[in-house]
Amino acid sequence: MIPTAASADPDEIAFEAIDAEIFRIPDLKTRLNVLQNYFFPRLERLLRLFAEGVRTAYGIDPYEHMTVAYRPAHRKDAVRVKDLGEVYIGLTPGRGDVPLHVLHDDGTAFKYSPSYLLIVVNSEGALQIVFRPYYYAVDQAFRERFEAAVEECWDSIGALMEMTRIAADVAGSWIPLRGSLLGPCQWTSPLIHFPVSESAWLGLLSFPFVALYSLLDTGARLARGENSRLPELIEALKANAEEPTDQEVGPGPDEEEKSVRTAAEPSALPAGDDGSPVLPELDSYRMIRDGKWYQILARDNFTCCGCRRSGPKDGVVLHVDHILPRSKGGTDEVANLQTLCAKCNLGKSNRDNTRLTQA
Ligand SMILES: [Zn+2]
Repeated sequence: MIPTAASADPDEIAFEAIDAEIFRIPDLKTRLNVLQNYFFPRLERLLRLFAEGVRTAYGIDPYEHMTVAYRPAHRKDAVRVKDLGEVYIGLTPGRGDVPLHVLHDDGTAFKYSPSYLLIVVNSEGALQIVFRPYYYAVDQAFRERFEAAVEECWDSIGALMEMTRIAADVAGSWIPLRGSLLGPCQWTSPLIHFPVSESAWLGLLSFPFVALYSLLDTGARLARGENSRLPELIEALKANAEEPTDQEVGPGPDEEEKSVRTAAEPSALPAGDDGSPVLPELDSYRMIRDGKWYQILARDNFTCCGCRRSGPKDGVVLHVDHILPRSKGGTDEVANLQTLCAKCNLGKSNRDNTRLTQA
């Protein structure tokens, strides 16, 4: 069955096992195009859900303090990165107006914080929350300040990270979490393999994201030369997780058990995106959902049906086009779809209803 706009749940964000095939589209530019068009809107919606969790937990609006980072962001990424091993959207501290208290290898100051908190999709088809404290090489003094801020409240942080199954890795090797920030590590949530549905993300990824946000904030403040507020954030997170939901619950023998259980279940965080600002439109990518994009590209031999240029041979970006546009009642049936290069697709948009195949 072809999903239609009418039957589509606008809140649904799901990843199917076949979505990993996007990483294996042979033509690099087409692959880049589909990776961006397919994953970015979905990851942006996820990010907004997680940002809502940050607001609830800490009373901080992350969009006020951070900017959104995308990869692969530019066409030049495609040329430089031959094999796009991952796609991500995440947060990084914004503003570049003052030199930061973090140094490059050559001793010059960073303009932007080197810390990133990311929702990563890897090419095997899995989602993961990743905190990269030093996305770029930083000076040892900054690392030590970071590590000292974390060490100061290790009892809480360590327990929190253990609870959310956060691990530290350096180039694929697991190392003990404690002390790991002194090296070029990343802190990661467990991998959540496709297929995943929204309930799975909220359960398994939102709490790691919210917990790791406290470290992103710490890195940002230290980089600006301010004091860490990590202890306050951790207290706020714990208090929020322990807050009774429907009725007043006084201190009692059950309290400890309850607080652990609540904190471990991110259902305490908002489960919907009501009230969130504008969300990316997913419907235009719904056709891609069935893996039909791949079917069409393969049927047409990765060649534009208009000018016969090939994606792999000529390096053109290929789109899957509706012959009769949706706006005029065109369906997602295979017979209504054709492969076009970006140029032909653009030229076609003014003269709708043009079949360029000899079907
Ligand atoms: Zn063409």
